[in-house]
Amino acid sequence: MSSDHSTIISRRRFLELTACCAAAASSLLPKVSVAADLPHLSMKDSAAVALGYHEDTRKVPSSKYPSHKPAQECGKCRLYQGAPGAQWGSCMIFPGKAVHVSGWCSAFSPRP
Ligand code: SF4
Repeated sequence: MSSDHSTIISRRRFLELTACCAAAASSLLPKVSVAADLPHLSMKDSAAVALGYHEDTRKVPSSKYPSHKPAQECGKCRLYQGAPGAQWGSCMIFPGKAVHVSGWCSAFSPRP
């Protein structure tokens, strides 16, 4: 086979991969807008209670969570997936629910 044939195959493969990536990216866009419509996580939800979730990090009782720091909040957590500037966003710990950008739970993990 000639190198021209190999080049054509490589270009074809490149175009296929590009189309695939574009399709994958476009499928993610609706998820971002849907995240804003998610029901808010209730502090009474059993999973929320188990992880000490609070909508306002300033109201987390230090007596119960001594490792909590007031500067820790969902918006600074690597598990938070809210859009920039949004008050609520999804969290990988609580699928299907939105947490408050100023919230906190004991699974907090700072963004690098
Ligand atoms: Fe907030 Fe992070 Fe806890 Fe999710 S895991 S509720 S983003 S602190």
